[in-house]
Amino acid sequence: MNDFENPKQEPTQRVEYCPHCGNTTPLQVVGSSTSHDVEDGQSVCETRFYLMSCKTCTGTLLFAAEYVQDDGRDLHRAQLVWPTKSNLDIRVPAAIRECYEEAYQVKVTSPMAFAVLIRRSLEAVCSDRGVQKRSLAASLQALVEQDQIPLVCADMTKVIKAIGNYGAHFTDMKVNASQVKVIDDFFRALIEYVYVAPAKISDFQARIGLLSEPPLPLIESKANG
Ligand SMILES: [Zn+2]
Repeated sequence: MNDFENPKQEPTQRVEYCPHCGNTTPLQVVGSSTSHDVEDGQSVCETRFYLMSCKTCTGTLLFAAEYVQDDGRDLHRAQLVWPTKSNLDIRVPAAIRECYEEAYQVKVTSPMAFAVLIRRSLEAVCSDRGVQKRSLAASLQALVEQDQIPLVCADMTKVIKAIGNYGAHFTDMKVNASQVKVIDDFFRALIEYVYVAPAKISDFQARIGLLSEPPLPLIESKANG
């Protein structure tokens, strides 16, 4: 059951970090909805969702407060539900997610630091895949040779490595917002290729196996060439 109105006697603003624009800024409640978990006809837990709008960038955010108390502090207790911090798939190893999380926090406010931290995240990927050469470039090349990442990824990682170098050493070079977007898209595509897609394929095969009688043959996971 849902209501779509603001609860009474609650504040309608909260100052919070906005992942869209990177500012800590007032967020305005633009709507709320309370969801009831019912067990044996009794409401056992209420969760209130707050739709918020950033007053700086107008970006939309969703917060949720579990175990609603209606004491005027539910909005204060609510946790950010969307956009989640980095949104990396839960199947990505924790060490890599932590590295990327750090990068994501400074993506808007410091593109240079973002590039450096993405470089570190790539090192974490290499380490997780069992490759630790003298340099990041050599590690990535080894991953290509082992067929763990496609050649096009290794080429792109050279660009990231160069950009990361600008950030790590004092130069006049600057990382701009469009480069940040390219780096971020690339890193996420690499993560999808290495960790997420294989897991999705095996989930899919397991589901197909459950549904079909007799079971369908397994899909070849190794691409041609
Ligand atoms: Zn914002």
